[in-house]
Order: sequence, then C-alpha cells, then structure tokens
Amino acid sequence: MLPSDDRTWENNDVTRRRENSERLEAAAKLVVPGGVYGHGALTTRAHPRFFESGTGAHVTDVDGNELIDFMCGYGPNLLGMGHPRVEAAAERQRRKGDCFSGPTARWVELAEALVERIGHADWAMFTKNGTDATTLCTTIARAATGRRKILVARGAYHGAAPWCTPSDAGVPAEDRAHLLHYRYNDLESVAEAVARAGDDLAGIMVSPFRHDTFVDQELPTTEFARGLRRACDRAGAVLMIDEVRAGLRLARGGSWERLSVDPDLSAWGKALGNGYAISAVVGREDLRDAARRVYATGSFWYGGVAMAAACETLAVADEIGLPEMLTATGQQFRAGLEELATANGFSLRQTGPPQLPMVLFEGDTDFSLGKFFTGDAIDRGVYMHPYHNMFLSAAHTPAIVAEALERLSGSFESLRRYVDAAGPEGSR
Ligand code: PMP
Repeated sequence: MLPSDDRTWENNDVTRRRENSERLEAAAKLVVPGGVYGHGALTTRAHPRFFESGTGAHVTDVDGNELIDFMCGYGPNLLGMGHPRVEAAAERQRRKGDCFSGPTARWVELAEALVERIGHADWAMFTKNGTDATTLCTTIARAATGRRKILVARGAYHGAAPWCTPSDAGVPAEDRAHLLHYRYNDLESVAEAVARAGDDLAGIMVSPFRHDTFVDQELPTTEFARGLRRACDRAGAVLMIDEVRAGLRLARGGSWERLSVDPDLSAWGKALGNGYAISAVVGREDLRDAARRVYATGSFWYGGVAMAAACETLAVADEIGLPEMLTATGQQFRAGLEELATANGFSLRQTGPPQLPMVLFEGDTDFSLGKFFTGDAIDRGVYMHPYHNMFLSAAHTPAIVAEALERLSGSFESLRRYVDAAGPEGSR
C-alpha cells in the first residue's frame, strides 16, 4: 500500500509557494475553531485553504499561484467568476441598494424567471443557502400534509442543518427522529422506508443523480424516478428534488424533466446567482397555500443584489445554451483524462454527468493515488478534488480544458514515477 497521508505529493518534482496559505491557516486556528471548517476543509494538505482572486475559470491563491479551477466554489461559479454581465447587473442594483425592509422588483422578476423555466414551478420562494432551501422544502411538505416523516437516500447530502448534517455533534436524536433512509436507485428500499413511515409520510427527498462524496456518481434509472413519484402519489406525500448541486448544469429547467418526472417541490442554490448568495424553493400550485403558511424569513433574504445577479445568470445561461456547452467541455475533459491515465498505466472511474466530473482511480480505496495526483496537479496549476465531484463552468472553454489536460499529463507521469518508486508493494 502507498502511504495515504496528505503530504505524499511533496515527493514530486515541482514546487509552489504555500507560505501565506499556511500562515493564514495557523492564524485562523487561533481565532476560528478548526481554522477553516466546512467544505473548504474537505480537501487535502496540498490544497490551498485561502484564495485571493478569481476570473473566469481561474483562481489565484494567497501565495499568488494561479490555478485552473475545476471546483467552481463547489458549484456556484456557473458562468465563470466575475462574469461581466452578471457583475454589471449586480452593480446596478448595489448602487440603488441591497438590503431594504422589503424586497425589490427583482423578487418578482426572479420568481417569474424560475416559474417560466421549471416545468413543475407555479411559484418560487427565496432563501440564501442550499440548506435554507432544502429545509424549507421539508417544512412546506410537513405543513401541507400534517405529517412528519421525511425519506432521504442514505449518504446523500442535503445541507448542514441539524435534521440533515452528516455530523452527529451537537445534534439531539430528536432532531432526526422523523428521518428515514432508502438507497438511491433501489425501489425496494424505498418501499420499506415508506412502510416504516406508515401514515406519517410527509415527503421523499432525492438528488437529481447520486453525487455523494467518496463514491462513484450514479444516474437515476427512469424506473427509480417514476417509482418515487408513484410512492408519493399513493401516500399523498410530497416529492422533493434537491437541485442545489446539480441544478442548471444538467438542464435548462428541472433535472428530471428528461425523465418526464416532476417533483412537487425543488430546492435550488449554488449556481443560481453565479456566486452571489441566493437560493430558492419552487413548487406546484397545490402546495402554494402550505408555502404561504410556513414562516420563512431572514435578514438578508430580500437582498436585491443577489437576485439581480440571478436574473442575469439565467438570461446568460439561456443565450449560450449552457447545459449543452458544459456537456461538450465535460466530455472533452473526461476523454482527455482517460487517454492520459491509460497512457500512464492507470485506470480511472469517471462517473455521472460530464458537467460535474467525478474522477476516482480504480482500486484506490484509501484515495492515496487521488491525493497524490490532485496535490501534484495543484503544483502544476490545476485545482481538482480527490473524492468530491467537480464542476465545469461556461468559462472552461475547450482551450482552457486542453491547457488543463496538458498540465495534468505531467501529474499522471509524476504519479507513475511515484508509484513505480514505491515498488511492487505500492504498485497498482
Ligand atoms: N444540497 C446539496 C445537494 C448540496 O450539494 C449542498 C451543498 N454542498 C446543499 C444542499 C447545501 O447547500 P449550502 O451549502 O448552500 O447550504
């Protein structure tokens, strides 16, 4: 076995400045619990923790290293960082004001834009983060049905609130008492969970595809999607799709429209404002009254700047034919990685939609190959993740993807040398 610690990539032959990032992290640890917490800490020691600036598909860390970024802020940067039209729209609103005692006209414009593009949307409500949106979905489902149980897929991420956070720390069992699990793409497990919920089933939440950390991505079968719809219809429960991560990259509207399956509610976030803090819940007419009754608010939830950014993001996405564009560059990236891996004697597992690339090394159960590879890639100016799905933006042009692949060819060669030097013990 290769060592799986986070510093193995330091054995490569490229160096990069890391002092500022490490100094800031040490300083943060004194004044912020854990230093950097959250998804930014999901990476390895090789990944810079702090960033300075970004444009398009490139980010620069606090040590001045410029990187082609395949994480896009874990999703929000849909059109690329600092997109001129989105920034201009945000700036126009910022000059007028952001935070008032009520919303701006952008509230109506954005709701209209979402209702127009998403098949099952007859109305929209606005929040700030994905967690706000998924949590609001469950509240509306419970208000509508007067029931308590919510089904989620085992291992799926729906946010950081007590009902759904992956950590048990500080979470009383009562906060999850009404959560039941099924397995993605497994209708038998859905039927079992529905039976356990009995006459208390409020709703089923599902991701457009399985995009859990650490494992292969999995597209839903049509049978699974229709089976969830049927299960909700039979039980009088609410079907909720969590579009927070995948939304807008897979389709212009709802991600399951191509399967002809409409949910009752869906949660949107991340990409919606191209980096501005905005998320949304959209839903069907028969849930409008329940949505009106629940108490939903936040000091910044009326903010006009993020809504102006979101309206422009949607307009630009339509003009450039975004999902098709991302599919093409995603396929280019996938094919290029495959070729480089094979040339260097590695086998990759690339799963799910190419717009959200997931790249794992075959047999790399402890992620030692992935950690070395992504560490080395950062040294060569490509920011990738060893075990979380990545994201493409419209700024990842074919030329930039080709440039990234060129740099990554060095990383595959470096990994080959590293594995060979480890001898038969470390060979894959
Ligand atoms: N649902 C999914 C599918 C997500 O990927 C995320 C964020 N990674 C969330 C919900 C929570 O969103 P946020 O971090 O904006 O609260």
